[in-house]
Amino acid sequence: MPDLDAVVQEIAAEMAQRSDRGEVAHYIPELARVDPGQFGIAVVGTDGAAAVAGDGDLPFSIQSISKVFTLTLALGMIGDRLWRRVGREPSGNPFNSIVQLERERGVPRNPFINAGAIAVTDVIVSGHQPRESLGEILRFMQFLSRDATVTIDAAVAASEKRTGFRNTALANYMRSFGVTENPVDFTLGVYFHHCAIAMSCRQLATAGLFLAHGGRDPETGFSVVSAERARRINALMLTCGHYDGSGEFAYRVGLPGKSGVGGGILAVAPGRASIAVWAPGLDAAGNSHLGRIALERLARRMGWSIFG
Ligand code: GLN
Repeated sequence: MPDLDAVVQEIAAEMAQRSDRGEVAHYIPELARVDPGQFGIAVVGTDGAAAVAGDGDLPFSIQSISKVFTLTLALGMIGDRLWRRVGREPSGNPFNSIVQLERERGVPRNPFINAGAIAVTDVIVSGHQPRESLGEILRFMQFLSRDATVTIDAAVAASEKRTGFRNTALANYMRSFGVTENPVDFTLGVYFHHCAIAMSCRQLATAGLFLAHGGRDPETGFSVVSAERARRINALMLTCGHYDGSGEFAYRVGLPGKSGVGGGILAVAPGRASIAVWAPGLDAAGNSHLGRIALERLARRMGWSIFG
């Protein structure tokens, strides 16, 4: 087995030298200001080993990666009833697409595209004040990352709220079908803020560890979800975690993964490790360009593809 620390350092060194970086997300003004030259990686093993390199300790905007955790919370709240409001199929469309909502009576295809994630957030909001729901999500992230300093970047949240016309359209459209039930601005306010959670690769990889370890935190033994549910969340990450780039990600990396337009990717090597990478430049599907390449290198060198 290759030395994990050496592999991670090599990958970070290679990524620092590459000039093909992709484009930072421009549609959220605050994210357009991020320096595309940064690269971070953190691998946390189920055996407690950790390897961190590059900017792996710098917080970045986790954006849609938060959707893995809101899905986990919503499933914990209402269980499989969630699937009445959101599907489990890859969309084959961009992350912010509205087209199939009309055909499918406002039910989004999966919990990771924007519409699906807004529907999931609506479940978390039900019966609470928005600030309570947001507090719950943030405390969940602090708990999973074993770090109470994890926080929300208010400037990013405000920036997204100011320019979130498309998400507002998606939310109103779903509300018109009764797929969501709370005031649209309540749900969207919580959605914009959980997307604006800032975390480092090390914090994020730690937070994802339960997905690599049958639903339990291997260090504390605390059970976050059942082993079956962890397996199913991983399945959704594999099939839907990179929007219309999910097939390509599975083909090249071979691990369940969830990307965000902040340039982060959380990937899970079941039974082995939780991995977070961050490179702000995106490809055409809105997934981190160098992040994907780094994960491809890591999975190959360590022999971690779930496809053997
Ligand atoms: N907050 C972003 C949005 O709603 C999340 C998108 C993403 O990370 N792909 O557009």
